[in-house]
Amino acid sequence: MIGVTILGATGSIGVNTLDVLARRPDRYRVVALTASTDVDRLFEQCLCHRPGLAVMADPAAAERLERKLVEAGSVTRVAAGMEGLCLAAGLPEADCVMAAIVGAAGLLPTLTAVRAGKRVLLANKEALVMAGPLFMDEVRAHGAVLLPIDSEHNAVFQCMPAEYSRGLERVGVRRILLTSSGGPFRQQPRSLREVRPEQACAHPNWVMGRKISVDSATMMNKGLEVIEAKWLFDADPSRIEVVVHPQSVIHSLVEYVDGSMLAQLASPDMRIPIAHALAWPERMESGAGCLDLCGVARLDFEAPDCERFPCLRIAFEAARAGGTAPAVMNAANEVAVHAFLERRLRFTDIPAVVEAALAAVPAREAASLDGILEADRAARACADAWIHDAALEVMP
Ligand code: NAD
Ligand code: MG
Repeated sequence: MIGVTILGATGSIGVNTLDVLARRPDRYRVVALTASTDVDRLFEQCLCHRPGLAVMADPAAAERLERKLVEAGSVTRVAAGMEGLCLAAGLPEADCVMAAIVGAAGLLPTLTAVRAGKRVLLANKEALVMAGPLFMDEVRAHGAVLLPIDSEHNAVFQCMPAEYSRGLERVGVRRILLTSSGGPFRQQPRSLREVRPEQACAHPNWVMGRKISVDSATMMNKGLEVIEAKWLFDADPSRIEVVVHPQSVIHSLVEYVDGSMLAQLASPDMRIPIAHALAWPERMESGAGCLDLCGVARLDFEAPDCERFPCLRIAFEAARAGGTAPAVMNAANEVAVHAFLERRLRFTDIPAVVEAALAAVPAREAASLDGILEADRAARACADAWIHDAALEVMP
């Protein structure tokens, strides 16, 4: 039996992971589940999957969960806070850890799983964006196996030659092409100034958590993915290209020096990359439907519009700058997206907040975890101040 811990079990990726695991109860055992505040959903998941440990990041929520589980006669223990999340990530019974917490909050638990030498299924792209070099050093130092869940990176992984870690040049890879649906506003002719949260969260092809949905609408998601690809495949940003492909059928491509391009195609269903990474190097059923090529009929491609979606340009710049710039960008973006979702910030001001933080927080080497967390804190303070000042201007 393979023991699996899911960090962020109640989210979109967490729920899809449980769906895939439940198809093979003979092979997978759920060891621990974690969530932030959604007591009712984690409670239901505990009754259904009977993990040994459940963790709530919020201590008051952990108390409520524990009371409910005791009343229901459940054997699941409960822990709380960052300590509890890291406990779940490093449990000896877990062979495999799904890192599916959203945002910088996932960095320490994900690193704990890496340091425990687990097979780490990485959905939490923000952790790798923040701490790229340190994160990859830890993967190597502790013999962890890092497998990408992000559909684009999972596709690239499937199209890479087995020995790609020897270096892209040596294995004949010229470029990585990340596809992007273009998000919900690709074809909207009007200004994006009045965009509301519910419009930004209505993605044409994927159902996802609210933060990544807004990131997809600004194209910051693709920007984060460029940096994610840089670290996962040790690729210089000049070798990474973004192609808008509205059908979301080709999940990404790898171009070789002889001119060949390999692509991975599938229905837009996250259970496919999740099942791929769980079973790798074997294959298992995911529950996803077959791709009907005749139904799809055509595949379109276009270049991204970095003027309408400046976040993509900003992310390429941060990828090239390196050091703490990606951590600053990520933190400011998290604050801006949160404010937008609470209707305290305009959609079109999200890139302005991120650029202000990048200009204000000096980029340093990302050599230590403390340095990265310090950059994250400084960027959040800067973004908060920007949003506060902007609110004063519109509400005299
Ligand atoms: P979501 O918002 O649906 O779920 C997030 C999960 O993290 C929840 O279980 C929540 O309880 C937990 N969480 C949130 N804040 C936390 C905190 N402070 N401490 C501890 N736990 C916390 O998000 P999602 O769409 O499932 O995305 C999860 C991650 O996977 C993100 O990094 C996202 O970019 C990435 N990802 C998601 C998809 C997708 O299709 N949903 C695709 C690719 C990558
Ligand atoms: Mg993706």
